[in-house]
Amino acid sequence: MNLEHHFASLGEAFSSKTLIQPLHEQRLVEFNQSLATFLSIDIKSTETKRILSGEEPLPSSLSMVYAGHQFGGFSPQLGDGRGVLLGEVRGLDGLLYDLHMKGAGPTPYSRRGDGRAVLRSCIREYLASEAMVALSVPSSRALALYDSREAVYRETPEAGAMLLRTSQGHIRFGHFEYFFSQGKQEELDQLIEYCLKHYYPDSLKSESPLEDMLTEVVKRTARMVAKWQSVGFQHGVMNTDNFSFTGETIDYGPYGFMEDYEPNWVCNHSDHEGRYAFSRQPGVGLWNLNCLMRCFSKHLERDQLIAILQCYEPELQSHYDVLMMQKMGLSSVEVLHELLPPLLLILTAEKMDYTIFFRLLSHLEKDNFNPLLDEVVDRQRLSQWLKRYQSARLSESTNWEQAGHEMLQANPKFVLRNYLAHEVILAAEHGDYLPFRRLLNVLNQPFNEHPESNALAQRAPDWGKSLEVSCSS
Ligand code: AMP
Ligand code: MG
Repeated sequence: MNLEHHFASLGEAFSSKTLIQPLHEQRLVEFNQSLATFLSIDIKSTETKRILSGEEPLPSSLSMVYAGHQFGGFSPQLGDGRGVLLGEVRGLDGLLYDLHMKGAGPTPYSRRGDGRAVLRSCIREYLASEAMVALSVPSSRALALYDSREAVYRETPEAGAMLLRTSQGHIRFGHFEYFFSQGKQEELDQLIEYCLKHYYPDSLKSESPLEDMLTEVVKRTARMVAKWQSVGFQHGVMNTDNFSFTGETIDYGPYGFMEDYEPNWVCNHSDHEGRYAFSRQPGVGLWNLNCLMRCFSKHLERDQLIAILQCYEPELQSHYDVLMMQKMGLSSVEVLHELLPPLLLILTAEKMDYTIFFRLLSHLEKDNFNPLLDEVVDRQRLSQWLKRYQSARLSESTNWEQAGHEMLQANPKFVLRNYLAHEVILAAEHGDYLPFRRLLNVLNQPFNEHPESNALAQRAPDWGKSLEVSCSS
């Protein structure tokens, strides 16, 4: 493993030296071999194994300091309260990737927390991040999962665990807010330079590198949120400290994947006001970018910053349109804009399962609507919509079957349903990781049929609909 230490070289203003503190009797229980191969990490090497797990102390490992707007209020100092950055490794694509351990023990930024993570939340993050990547949503990834015999206290004692994750960069909007709010101009400039060099080198060729980089950050964020909306993902805690400067989904906590379609859905039971409700995510993305742009008010004029922010909405809308056209087998934006809003009203009224609906739509035969009509109460309303849809699709493409085939590559059969995560967590807490691996396998290839795993494509049973997720992790 060729570990590099670029972030560490920024110096003490940016982080504190922190070692991983291994858990009591910890075991490596899951390892992502294809990701390891991509990162040229040989897990069979004893030395690598010991470094990754924290058994071999790595003097250059660190915890990062940052700030953030949490549920709208500014916290001037947060930081990795339970995360340790081991360093960076180069992927086969030539880019650098962070190796970051979550649940690694107390750090100088732990505040009142214990620095730990529970097995439940590590499994949820592992599954969600890998599911997102398989759905082509930019995301951090899971490299390794460790469980232990150490009790971690939440509402009740739970099994402690650690998750080794990777991302292009763990620099958050909150990193910039931290230095800006303290008037630390020099450090802010250093951070800008660092991000240009490592994440946005193309911007260095521009006449105004900072402006160019920020425009790219806005666009990447817009595309990430557009993808969330198209796959029905709700992040749950869209605080600015959970928003990555590289436009990747990070920090999976009380997230959810839409089951019964409901635009006002709030997956996080700690979010009492519904600040991060599904339909609000695009607006919150812009709100967060606004917080970020303020940090550059000494570098760029107000009008320039506003112009950068104005790229957000058109980028998000056009990307969302493309994704939804793929899901519906359409090629005209005008037709999409005519057909999608009434469809979403029907899905809401019917409490229709988002994933199952689009999968059935992909399988729809030209002259038999029954498989979809059998799913709803108001058959007439859906039938009218389907007739409009049928004629639009027929006028756009001559080959109905081919279009349906392509739609199957845009509409997954499998999605990470909350009750499925709950079941595999219960098994893992009893030492049985087979259900976890079975679920991970279909989430890694969610567009394939996997007939032996049909049960994992089913709606939640009644008990599974009322499961709550909160910030406790
Ligand atoms: P989150 O919303 O989970 O991303 O966490 C918000 C902040 O709280 C971050 O600074 C985390 O590092 C910190 N944090 C969360 N859980 C713990 C914990 N158990 N111990 C220490 N810090 C924590
Ligand atoms: Mg966080």
